[in-house]
Amino acid sequence: MNYTTSQLDLLLLFYDNPLAYGRIGLLTFQERFPTEKKCREYLVKVRYPKGFSCPRCGSPAVGEVQTRHLWQCKGCRGQLSLTAGTLFHKSRTPLREWFWALFLVARDKRGHSALQLSKELGIPYVRTWLMLHRIRTAMANRDARYRLSGIVEMDEAYFGAPDPGRRGRSTRRVKAIVALGLREAGRPGFVKIQTVKRLDARAVKAFAEVAISPGSTIRTDGLKVYNSLSKHGFQHEATVAPGKTKDDVLHWTHTIISNAKAFIAGTFHGLPEKHIQRYLDEFCYRFNRRQREAELFDRLLLACVTAPAVTRDELTT
Ligand SMILES: [Zn+2]
Repeated sequence: MNYTTSQLDLLLLFYDNPLAYGRIGLLTFQERFPTEKKCREYLVKVRYPKGFSCPRCGSPAVGEVQTRHLWQCKGCRGQLSLTAGTLFHKSRTPLREWFWALFLVARDKRGHSALQLSKELGIPYVRTWLMLHRIRTAMANRDARYRLSGIVEMDEAYFGAPDPGRRGRSTRRVKAIVALGLREAGRPGFVKIQTVKRLDARAVKAFAEVAISPGSTIRTDGLKVYNSLSKHGFQHEATVAPGKTKDDVLHWTHTIISNAKAFIAGTFHGLPEKHIQRYLDEFCYRFNRRQREAELFDRLLLACVTAPAVTRDELTT
């Protein structure tokens, strides 16, 4: 049986009791997932909330093959991989380590560095580095399913080490475009951040078309690069009003940019620029689920189950 992702989300909410892993301690977590088998069983529940059936013959009866993560259908005898089509596919890292990484990442608001995770789990740094970056790609994959709509603030931001002598858009720091959807009463909703090589009208258009639903109203500070948004199916409000500073009009966006900078500087010192996008993806993922912290482990696991595998080369080059 196939489910769309939003159905999966819904089913997960009603599946068993909400486990609220954000609120359980390390001992309880260890008791729930002491073995690969326990992790595998839980993975199956998350992946097939209404029960498993063979994609070829529809039979619900399967037997485990001794080889890791392989099943054999008792109807058609076909073999299938439990992790195919998920982030864990072909990963030699045991599921238990993945589960622990997801649990620790989910319960730590400030983010988790590879060094920290390596020490906590007693596994090599290279492995935790790759795991965390893979988890970040799953986070990005998840957020890419949703677009902002309604009233959206948009602004530019610069990340990375300070670049003395160069200010504004001539800086060599990593440039990014930030979009924040506003809820009723102007409260912040969801956020998206995209790094760009050049901060120009073309980059703004490309970002807006992917991140924001057509017809939405985009509020900016009126910088020239945003002016063509109205030609591409958006309502553009350049809101620099006389007597008001930029901060008055894009207040929440500026707050979020400061938070994103603090998130990166606090946990991940001296980031190589080519990886900044993934840390920003993590920041956005967490921000967008800030009211659902207790569910974060299950949500992250679902994100990994529905995300394509990423090779080491894709992460490092
Ligand atoms: Zn079958």
